[in-house]
Amino acid sequence: MFGLSKLFSAKSVQKQPIISALAAYRSAAFAVGIEQDFIADITQNTDKSITVKLNLPFAAQSEMPHVAQFLTERLKIDVNVTASVHLKEAAKFKAIKHIVLVASGKGGVGKSTTAVNLAGSLKNEGAKVGILDADIYGPSIPMLLGLVGSEPVTKDNKQLQPFDANGIKAQSIGFLVPSDDATVWRGPMASGALSQLLNETDWGELDYLIVDMPPGTGDIQLTMSQKVPASGTVIVTTPQDLALADAQKGIAMFNKVNVPVLGLIENMSHYICEHCGEANHVFGKDGAQKLALKHGVPVLSHIPLAIDIRESSEQGKLIADDTDAVISKTYSAAARLVASTLYYQQHHNAIDVVITED
Ligand code: ADP
Repeated sequence: MFGLSKLFSAKSVQKQPIISALAAYRSAAFAVGIEQDFIADITQNTDKSITVKLNLPFAAQSEMPHVAQFLTERLKIDVNVTASVHLKEAAKFKAIKHIVLVASGKGGVGKSTTAVNLAGSLKNEGAKVGILDADIYGPSIPMLLGLVGSEPVTKDNKQLQPFDANGIKAQSIGFLVPSDDATVWRGPMASGALSQLLNETDWGELDYLIVDMPPGTGDIQLTMSQKVPASGTVIVTTPQDLALADAQKGIAMFNKVNVPVLGLIENMSHYICEHCGEANHVFGKDGAQKLALKHGVPVLSHIPLAIDIRESSEQGKLIADDTDAVISKTYSAAARLVASTLYYQQHHNAIDVVITED
């Protein structure tokens, strides 16, 4: 513990106690603390207040009030923490740093809802984000982002312009081809359309591009996942046995094509009773956890079955953008964990992901 006198005995701020305190901070996303490398600047405001500026290598801005509180308690002075997000890695595809596939073994588990809210949360965490709807069986991203009726625009008859949905760049396979007859799709055709959308959309600079994949683990999904230079995939499942069995096939498929599985998201995990606040495990309990343990992947989030998720979706609004909604915090925590997993996957060999209750 460092007292005031020690911290401010010299004219300039003594950085070491602050560096040590940052290193001791722990959360699911900062499972190994906040590294010295992330510090951009430390300024002394008054003799009892400092500002720490961080340069985060992954999207996790909304955690800064917690970091500030932790430092304030530990250092016994007022600490204000600000952060901006600058991913260190080089772009892997055009000017896109990470492409993240959101997949599911089975349809109707909430994959698109999860994909779009993860995109929204990553944006809210300070990143430049895009979403590509590649779900040939039912492209729903335009509806979820309130873009129904919009027509794609090209620039100089070459590049497709992505739509701007509240700061998220969006493109959908549904704009390219009519979706009424999904049976016409074959692997090469679907992967060709996906490559075309990836290549011909003017994405600009992106930190994360989320790809909403078609559900299933067949030939089409396999061919499509081979076409995309993805950094990793997130598999969405419900706790039901059938969905879990299909999620397991999904893990096997991504292992086969060497796309790292970043983790599972258990959607419709439980239902919080409006009256007593108790969690009911409508579709079963601990299923995703067991599957995750078996395959050595983490469960990134347990998202409840919640009426406001469905209602927001139907209105073309992102619940992740509604800071008053409890559920937006759940999506934010999942997004920070996805972002930090991508970072640590490249910068540390392996770390244990600590899942906390928040
Ligand atoms: P998928 O992409 O897997 O086919 P969707 O994202 O389209 O699934 O979701 C299917 C339906 O379930 C939609 O009506 C959506 O609003 C609803 N839904 C998804 N996740 C939740 C949730 N956690 N709570 C309540 N409804 C949800």
